Amino acid sequence: MLLTEEHLLIQESVRTLADKVIRPYAQTWAQEKIFPKAALEALASAGFMGMLVPEEWGGSNVDCLAYVLAIIELAKADGAISTIVSVHNSIAMLPILKFGTTMQKELFLTPLARGQQLGAFCLTEPQAGSDAAHLETKAVQHGDAYVLNGVKQFVTSGQHADIAIVFAQTTAHQGEKQNITAFIVPTHTPGFHVSKIEQKMGQQASEIAQIVFEDLRIPASYQLGHPGEGYKIALSNLECGRLGIAAQAIGMAEEALRLSIQYAQERKTFGKFLFEHQAISFKLADMATELEAAKQLLYHAAQLHDANQSCIKEASMAKLFATEAAEKICRHAIQIYGGYGYLQDFPLERIYRDVRVTSIYEGTSDIQRLIIGRELIRH
Ligand SMILES: Cc1cc2nc3c(=O)[nH]c(=O)nc-3n(C[C@H](O)[C@H](O)[C@H](O)COP(=O)(O)OP(=O)(O)OC[C@H]3O[C@@H](n4cnc5c(N)ncnc54)[C@H](O)[C@@H]3O)c2cc1C
Repeated sequence: MLLTEEHLLIQESVRTLADKVIRPYAQTWAQEKIFPKAALEALASAGFMGMLVPEEWGGSNVDCLAYVLAIIELAKADGAISTIVSVHNSIAMLPILKFGTTMQKELFLTPLARGQQLGAFCLTEPQAGSDAAHLETKAVQHGDAYVLNGVKQFVTSGQHADIAIVFAQTTAHQGEKQNITAFIVPTHTPGFHVSKIEQKMGQQASEIAQIVFEDLRIPASYQLGHPGEGYKIALSNLECGRLGIAAQAIGMAEEALRLSIQYAQERKTFGKFLFEHQAISFKLADMATELEAAKQLLYHAAQLHDANQSCIKEASMAKLFATEAAEKICRHAIQIYGGYGYLQDFPLERIYRDVRVTSIYEGTSDIQRLIIGRELIRH
């Protein structure tokens, strides 16, 4: 697929900005677990914190293809920041755009899309990840307010976010999708507690937190959509979110491939450059081919999305294939670097750890297979 001039321009402008404000710092952020606040501010100034939101609500209103191209460029520079930006731009903001009232858009969507505030998405709970319908957080209505109690797990930007989309049961019948309602929760609300910052394998500049809601009271007007519509709201955004995750995986894999090609032309063994050994050039060829296939799946799904066509199956295919291929590509890249690939002095070790989670969050690989299988039978 050939990209239009407009898409190439967006790609180039994100690349230039990422090379300036992200790439030089990525290794330090990861080693010292620094949240990349200044870089997020620079991305906000350039309009990359409200990419999918119309201008009237403070966004830059690019299409989904431009969005995934931007995420690829960010992930090439640093996987962790691509997670923060992806969550913020898709699953944290799109529910308000699609289901929010005018008041909710003015109050919450506009500052989010301008990048003045950061968004989070609270669906997963300690006992319910893939099986999200079994969430146990409760929201009980008292007059013109809701009171929330419960625990959310693995919340990206849980500590730094200003606004969270929270999913809770609004009746006593747990485990039933039609009883879940979505809410917009400002994180400064009394009763919003960050109970734990998780220690994880990679993406150290992006935190995940456990959040406890303890008698957290919000106005009933912060309810998003209708009562019982929460599960639908959560799923409607995961589709676009998944394209963002595929883009992240592709960005990290592309960086690993670039580093491998470079190293294969610098390092000599047995009197030859690495790329002159057929085993290495074949490995590079396989890596490049899988990466290209992943990109085409992603671009195809994004184009369907932009054409307002269903892309449930295609988004899952893109996420499944891209994230699994990316991990393989990063593993091969480390192999090409030999012992140096295992050292923290070189970025590949970080990229390999960073890419691992892409086949887990926003629906594991097997959940994507479930969705694809279901769609095959449905059509
Ligand atoms: C770094 C990170 C960031 C995250 N960010 C967020 C966030 O911002 N917001 C949020 O809400 N969540 C977030 N998550 C949670 C993430 O989406 C879940 O971890 C993921 O959906 C898997 O859920 P689980 O961990 O409970 O695994 P489980 O659902 O317990 O699954 C365990 C294993 O069983 C398999 N499995 C489960 N059910 C089936 C089935 N029916 N058929 C076949 N296999 C099955 C899974 O594929 C997996 O291999 C994040 C997670 C991580 C690690």
